[in-house]
Amino acid sequence: MVKRLVIVGGGSAGWLTAGVIAAEHRARDGAGLSVTLLESPDVPAIGVGEGTWPTMRDTLRKIGVSETKFLRDCDASFKQGSKFERWVDGREHDYYFHPFMLPEGYLETNLVAGWMKRHATTPFADLVSFQPHLCAQGKAPKQPQTPEYAAVANYAYHLDAGKFGTFLREHCVTSLGVRHIVDHMTGVESAPNGDLTAVTTRSNGALAGDLFVDCTGLTSRLLGGHFGIPFVSRHHVLFNDTALALQVPYDDAQAPIASHTISTAQQAGWIWDIGLPTRRGIGHVFSSAHTTEEAAERVLLEYLARTGGKAGAAPRKLTFEPGYRREFWHRNCVAIGLSAGFIEPLEASALALVELSAAMLSDEMPATRDAMEIVARRFNDFFAYRWERVIDFLKLHYVLSRRQDSEFWRDNRDAASMPDRLTELLRLWRFQPPSRYDLHRVEEVFPSASYQYVLYGMGFRPEPEGFSRRMDDADRADEYFREAARLTHRMVGALPTNRALLQHIYQYGLQRI
Ligand SMILES: Cc1cc2nc3c(=O)[nH]c(=O)nc-3n(C[C@H](O)[C@H](O)[C@H](O)COP(=O)(O)OP(=O)(O)OC[C@H]3O[C@@H](n4cnc5c(N)ncnc54)[C@H](O)[C@@H]3O)c2cc1C
Repeated sequence: MVKRLVIVGGGSAGWLTAGVIAAEHRARDGAGLSVTLLESPDVPAIGVGEGTWPTMRDTLRKIGVSETKFLRDCDASFKQGSKFERWVDGREHDYYFHPFMLPEGYLETNLVAGWMKRHATTPFADLVSFQPHLCAQGKAPKQPQTPEYAAVANYAYHLDAGKFGTFLREHCVTSLGVRHIVDHMTGVESAPNGDLTAVTTRSNGALAGDLFVDCTGLTSRLLGGHFGIPFVSRHHVLFNDTALALQVPYDDAQAPIASHTISTAQQAGWIWDIGLPTRRGIGHVFSSAHTTEEAAERVLLEYLARTGGKAGAAPRKLTFEPGYRREFWHRNCVAIGLSAGFIEPLEASALALVELSAAMLSDEMPATRDAMEIVARRFNDFFAYRWERVIDFLKLHYVLSRRQDSEFWRDNRDAASMPDRLTELLRLWRFQPPSRYDLHRVEEVFPSASYQYVLYGMGFRPEPEGFSRRMDDADRADEYFREAARLTHRMVGALPTNRALLQHIYQYGLQRI
């Protein structure tokens, strides 16, 4: 029987996994699964990872966290999507939005055909959704009277990664019955068949378990280190491998808080700009094969000067190889978080994959070692598929760019760097929009609507042969475009700014559900 779960690692991945499993498997009462989390005092959590996906609302709700407390304790704000600046051709006014909401009437008619026939000069996202207009005006996704986790416009969060870890730890230990041990894992003990029986620690002896979760970050101590599961590099597809990160306080405590991540393309990568209530998180992620660290830092500081900020300290450097492990679940050990893989921060998929992994592990928690074989096979199949879809989607942002200013952008368009599946889909999308037939699994990391926003935001235009035969689409689509415009008018007037809503929440809280 699987009764004892041991999680090694106390970063966001370890604590999210502990929270989901402890909440759903009654870790607090003796009859449930016991959940132990071991965290090294010597190895700090990575401390970045400030952008999330709307799944986070559901995850936090499920583990029983108050949204008000989360927003207050984690310096969190609302995120309604991303704005991509200078990705298309690099000029000053080149931008588009990737909002979280589906277009109005998304599953009802071919909106792309209607857009191309009558509104081709309007940006696609601005026509089909009210959310880009909320973002453009710094509006919040809900009203003060909207209850916790409920939304007027779909949203995720921007948060302080360090505070988030502390917040989750406190909740897991005090409310969910997770046993927390601060000690360094020094090795493992194994059964003759190769299964792990315990992890050994410096001061707390051996911690025995039936199932082990490797959340040790990029070092992947159990899955990569102990079991030697090979790493599948995707560096030849997505070139970014280094980041310089900064925390930038606001000059004015009342400065507006952006309702979206701002991603600005640079010559050898891009800069993220994330607005939290007390500061911005800014970072330049770049390809070390296409620029130097000194040049990348200069670009980051120029961006900061241009956007009105002063760096308190020197940027922090992080390096990674884009890719993932060939297997995620091996014997009685499953890797979640950076130990399973990391691609790059574009579109904030890493924590979303952590949530999906924790949810599947919890839903499919094997009752016995025998059942584990079947579940592990399924888990590996699901996540190999998901990592590859993340790679396709991120690559889509680069291949359609018309930027000519550097080798980085030219190399990104080289057919040899393209995943086969993406090359094939781009051929298909010349005549039909991305749809659920392209992304047909339950819980795709990125839905087909996200592909539409990026594809058309990047300037890709379908061939007229693909939509001119569909006579009735333009009228039906127009109804939805009018609805999006009506909603824009209503929402922009009715919703407070991001900062005003957060201030209300600090003072009065949100109504609990
Ligand atoms: C530049 C950058 C930007 C990012 N931005 C985003 C973003 O915007 N959105 C997003 O979703 N994700 C982002 N990510 C990814 C995100 O940071 C991670 O997915 C997330 O923080 C989870 O990390 P983790 O818990 O797997 O690893 P870590 O935070 O590295 O935690 C590892 C844990 O393992 C423990 N450990 C290690 N060795 C031992 C040992 N021997 N014994 C005991 N414990 C041990 C450590 O003490 C630590 O607690 C970003 C990543 C990078 C590099």
